[in-house]
Amino acid sequence: MGLRIVILGAPGAGKGTQARKLAEKRGIPHISTGDIFRAHLSEGTEFARQIDPYMKSGALVPDELTIAIVEERLGRPDCRDGYVLDGFPRSLEQTQALERMTASQGPGIDAAIDLRVPDDELVARMGARRTCAECGTIYNLKFNPPKGGGMRCDRNGCGGQLVQRPDDNEDTIRQRLFIYHKTAGPIYEYYEERGILHIVRGDVSPEVVFATVEDIVCGVEVA
Ligand SMILES: [Zn+2]
Repeated sequence: MGLRIVILGAPGAGKGTQARKLAEKRGIPHISTGDIFRAHLSEGTEFARQIDPYMKSGALVPDELTIAIVEERLGRPDCRDGYVLDGFPRSLEQTQALERMTASQGPGIDAAIDLRVPDDELVARMGARRTCAECGTIYNLKFNPPKGGGMRCDRNGCGGQLVQRPDDNEDTIRQRLFIYHKTAGPIYEYYEERGILHIVRGDVSPEVVFATVEDIVCGVEVA
């Protein structure tokens, strides 16, 4: 029986990076709701027809639909030996649904790892995001600036102007963080009550964060 890990954290906290590294190291799938949605859309599945209007308008896909899509994904054979979830659960309803799904296969989720980063740091990280107006490549002026240091895209000689998307301005980011904290509170409480919530400092280098994440997962394994 494999490990079933949930990675929690605010937007910009580094969930994707940590989930990917952990999944790679353990040889289990990295399941991100964003990736699953995009895969359905590109394959034109029945789910694609249902999520398409939400994706197009930028609205959140409703809980019930998200749950059905994740449940289908977790039922595939590659998830038998465990998985790392990123971007799910995102509400108490999703958290309870995940517990129901996994209960049939064993004791449920093994660990929920929360990457804690102060809001000001998240605002600084996401506020430094720039997108190439030509090819859409995403840069971060703080962590991943274009080579040459200018405000031009360096990908394959693209040379496009780097711009800040409206999503990445400070007011929008603060609003998203406010909503995140409000909805995430009950998720933390739920996992804390189950005794499987692990809080990790996320405002250090990705390597240091990963070492801590690894320690936690090893601890869960031997327990
Ligand atoms: Zn470009």
